[in-house]
Amino acid sequence: MDRFFSSDFTLGILGGGQLGKMLLTETQKWDIKTHVLDPSDQAPCKTGCTQFTQGSLMDYDTVMAFGQNLDVLTIEIEGVNLDALTDLERQGVKTYPRAETLRFIQDKGIQKSFYAQHDIPTAPFVLFDHGDDVREAYKAGDLQLPCVWKICRGGYDGKGVQILRKPEDLQDLPQAPCLIEEFVPFELELAVIVARTPSGKAISYPVVEMEFHPEANQVEYVLCPARIDQSLAKKAQEVALKVSRALKHQGLLAVELFATSTGDILVNEVAPRPHNSGHYSIEAAHTNQFEQHLRAILDLPLGATDSKLAGIMVNLVGKEGHQGPVFYEHLEKILEMPGVTPHIYGKKQTRPFRKMGHVTIVHNDMAQARVVAEQVKNTINVISIP
Ligand code: ADP
Repeated sequence: MDRFFSSDFTLGILGGGQLGKMLLTETQKWDIKTHVLDPSDQAPCKTGCTQFTQGSLMDYDTVMAFGQNLDVLTIEIEGVNLDALTDLERQGVKTYPRAETLRFIQDKGIQKSFYAQHDIPTAPFVLFDHGDDVREAYKAGDLQLPCVWKICRGGYDGKGVQILRKPEDLQDLPQAPCLIEEFVPFELELAVIVARTPSGKAISYPVVEMEFHPEANQVEYVLCPARIDQSLAKKAQEVALKVSRALKHQGLLAVELFATSTGDILVNEVAPRPHNSGHYSIEAAHTNQFEQHLRAILDLPLGATDSKLAGIMVNLVGKEGHQGPVFYEHLEKILEMPGVTPHIYGKKQTRPFRKMGHVTIVHNDMAQARVVAEQVKNTINVISIP
């Protein structure tokens, strides 16, 4: 086995945001050297890594230069130059996830076609080259409303996804490759994280549940375990493991799922990295997702994925109407609440809905954790300094 700990072994991380920062907590725990590339000189990772390089993640030469002298390379964001990653793999740098996995993830059309080919349950869909083709299909009576439009490449955090409810909603669709998916009147959105090593060992985390704000259509809480019965949880984990086996990814894979009223589980999309839906695990699980990602990409034994306590995560996003240097109003008040741990990502500037941090609430009892989570949500505010 390679010597990873207290050695010259160096792990490269493409992207220096909050996911990278939380991964660095684990590399520090194990005294593993790291080198991070990010375009911003204020990246959250800047202070926690051994070496930091400022530069574009999409530029071939920058990524190639960064990849020299690394032993293992991983990502914390999917938008990276894949030609460079492929060439680095050819040069012998172990990159996890592999460039081919990322190529698959970067295109929702390829992703959906893969599920269909591998008999993985997902909402029915049709691929289109342009917005005009979608309009033509609607005129020809081939599309039923409501349905969901998704851009194949470049969408993130809900941008690039639109529910088409009435004919006018089709007017402004961009002239880009896209897919139209059947609207799923799901009961719940669930997620399962699977860890897989290069030698093919895999383990899944418990099922988590996203709870949405009743009006704003924004995820308010991520709860682990999901408040669902055992058989549905088992089904969700089996589907996630099936995706993992089909994809043969290395490292973590977060599988986002819809649960329908008829008890079906459909795959929405996947992310081949630590994920927002796994942040609860830092406080609540035996092995948190970031340590697990390290174990997986270094081909070490995987850790136990079960939880010690019920966990709920609340995202801390910038309040509407606030832009500028950040201030976490009433942070000290939430620290008085039982089982509450805030995580501050280190972004110095807030803007509306920017992900600035998260708070984890743990408790022996999920119902009690949920009460505290709501108190946290109603107390802390991410605002700009007046
Ligand atoms: P993103 O890649 O931006 O996260 P998603 O594909 O996850 O986009 O979609 C964002 C949200 O849109 C989902 O979390 C879900 O609430 C809703 N959504 C996506 N697909 C469908 C669908 N087929 N039916 C109903 N709602 C959907």
